[in-house]
Amino acid sequence: MRRSLVVGNWKMNGSEAFVEKLLADLIGGLSEQQAEIAVCPGYVHIAQATSLCAGTPVVVGGQDCSHVQSGAYTGEVAAAMLCDLGCQWVILGHSERRQYHGELSALIGAKLAAAVEAGLRPILCVGETREQRENGDAETIVASQLRGALLEQANLSGLVVAYEPVWAIGTGLTASPEQAQEMHAFIRSCLEEIPGVDAGATRLLYGGSVKGANAAELFFQPDIDGALVGGAALDATEFLAIINAA
Ligand code: PEP
Repeated sequence: MRRSLVVGNWKMNGSEAFVEKLLADLIGGLSEQQAEIAVCPGYVHIAQATSLCAGTPVVVGGQDCSHVQSGAYTGEVAAAMLCDLGCQWVILGHSERRQYHGELSALIGAKLAAAVEAGLRPILCVGETREQRENGDAETIVASQLRGALLEQANLSGLVVAYEPVWAIGTGLTASPEQAQEMHAFIRSCLEEIPGVDAGATRLLYGGSVKGANAAELFFQPDIDGALVGGAALDATEFLAIINAA
């Protein structure tokens, strides 16, 4: 039995006042939810968030980390630094990192190794663009993103994979539950071929314009174990509705 997981990716949003209110509303609105919950603020708000979430069911993660442990890498943040601030998770290979920062699978794989080594649980994002889907290449792309980051890893403990079709991120377009399930089942079959991964136990999150209104039908699918949520995670009411659906 895989426990549901709902992760909020706040991206480059918020201020101290915003974080304080959002977390107060989120934590105050939690009921007897069964899902595991994480929020991923910008780096500068992580310490504030871990302090506000202490003793609650909400844990904190980073949105990225460096591929090395320390050294002359101006502007980078090491996985161990995220641990120092109380993070338990880190998102890696988000399509915005791939698109705006040119991140390729080799680098993402190195980040993943550094994250696991430091004790973080990695959320590896994969997903195809609209053009790739229209050309019939969605599965090839996703398989290559998985293999590129996961093959030859010494330790993949705690791995979570998020399927985020790029055409659905922040666009209001969501993959249909059937489209998402089909890709999640494919991802699980790819994971079966990766040494060190228990494919049946690995949680697969869907991401791409998830909201309170569409979460339940996505979570109803057998291979969808939760969500990675962008825009709707900035609104406590919407995020709570997604958590309650999980
Ligand atoms: C994301 O960026 O991870 C994401 C899923 O964004 P949104 O929910 O806004 O589509």
